Amino acid sequence: MENKETQEAKETPAVTPEEKADRCRENLEKAIAAVKRELPGMTLLENEPMSAHCSFRIGGPVRALAAPEDVTSLSRLCSILKDNHIAPMMLGNGTNILFPDEGLDQLFLVSTEKLTGMFLLPDGAIYAEAGVSLSKLASFARQNELAGLEFASGIPGTVGGGTIMNAGAYGGELKDVIESVVILYVPDQRLYELTREQCAFAYRTSLFKKMGGCLVLSVVFRLDKGDGEAIAAKMRELNERRRDKQPLDLPSAGSAFKRPEGYYAAALIDEAGLKGYTVGGAQVSEKHAGFVVNIGGATSHDVYDLLMHVRETVWREKGVQLEPEIIILPPDYRLEDNGPAVHRNHITVNEIPEDGDSLPQ
Ligand SMILES: Cc1cc2nc3c(=O)[nH]c(=O)nc-3n(C[C@H](O)[C@H](O)[C@H](O)COP(=O)(O)OP(=O)(O)OC[C@H]3O[C@@H](n4cnc5c(N)ncnc54)[C@H](O)[C@@H]3O)c2cc1C
Repeated sequence: MENKETQEAKETPAVTPEEKADRCRENLEKAIAAVKRELPGMTLLENEPMSAHCSFRIGGPVRALAAPEDVTSLSRLCSILKDNHIAPMMLGNGTNILFPDEGLDQLFLVSTEKLTGMFLLPDGAIYAEAGVSLSKLASFARQNELAGLEFASGIPGTVGGGTIMNAGAYGGELKDVIESVVILYVPDQRLYELTREQCAFAYRTSLFKKMGGCLVLSVVFRLDKGDGEAIAAKMRELNERRRDKQPLDLPSAGSAFKRPEGYYAAALIDEAGLKGYTVGGAQVSEKHAGFVVNIGGATSHDVYDLLMHVRETVWREKGVQLEPEIIILPPDYRLEDNGPAVHRNHITVNEIPEDGDSLPQ
């Protein structure tokens, strides 16, 4: 005897991926029309090549890229998108993303480039909006003789992107200095203020990265009182080390792989003989094996094939599994043929997460 669920499944024809994609495109067109109508002053680029908006200098056109001028217009934009069943993806400085050459015709990107408010709170903490660059944040801390953000001064991302990724360097991580984070949660369109503990920060990840649907609007940083000269000297020293070791003269997205427990990705890649290994315009940096650089005209496929070759070789030669740190779009890439499966990036592209109750209250 068939149960009710099997019967229903037979009666309801399954939606094919093509039908789903068509519906997404239709919703996106309606959303774009509504944004133009209701927010006529907002910067809205259509079919914008992403190579112009990311540090890899790679990527075809994204259907829409908006840049709200403040948090209020960002909220209004998100509400229009939600009414049209579209979940936006946020863009900071694009320093950790590989966009596909084919473009993303189902994606609405929201840039935080105009959300750059930053000030000192009466109790001495720093309030910074999502689009503030980490280098400006670190300089602001130095000017106010606040120590603890020296490690961040050479990371080319924003406060929003850095918080999602829990960016870090030279023994420091943003989680060490974040006191609280305000997000807009796409499923219920409400604002939440989360404490550091609620953000579930871990190595290069956070609650926001795992869940999707969380747009970081602003962050409060709690720092220690320090000496301005000593802070400046530390920043200079770390940035010199960065310039000495990293291929900053070529486009890249920073470290290509996360640090596997007990190892260094760069050392494993170097020992596997892959320094300088090239696919098309993508190369394992000669200067730092942990970086994949665009030596000229690299396509997203060059980078992807290179990453997979590195992953496969390191797994075969060293028995260590490498997980990409770079966010590869679209999110449904396959890694199963290149060693053990790794977690996929949890990026919401055009789908509103239904899990509206699971945010810490
Ligand atoms: C030369 C170079 C050196 C680097 N060195 C380091 C380093 O030392 N340490 C390190 O940790 N990283 C490093 N990186 C990587 C990168 O700079 C960081 O991961 C950075 O935090 C990414 O910030 P972004 O603003 O560029 O984010 P993007 O690349 O724009 O986005 C990254 C992710 O965050 C999401 N996102 C961005 N803003 C928001 C927001 N406001 N709300 C919700 N989601 C958002 C995006 O959707 C995406 O999923 C380096 C990169 C380069 C190119």
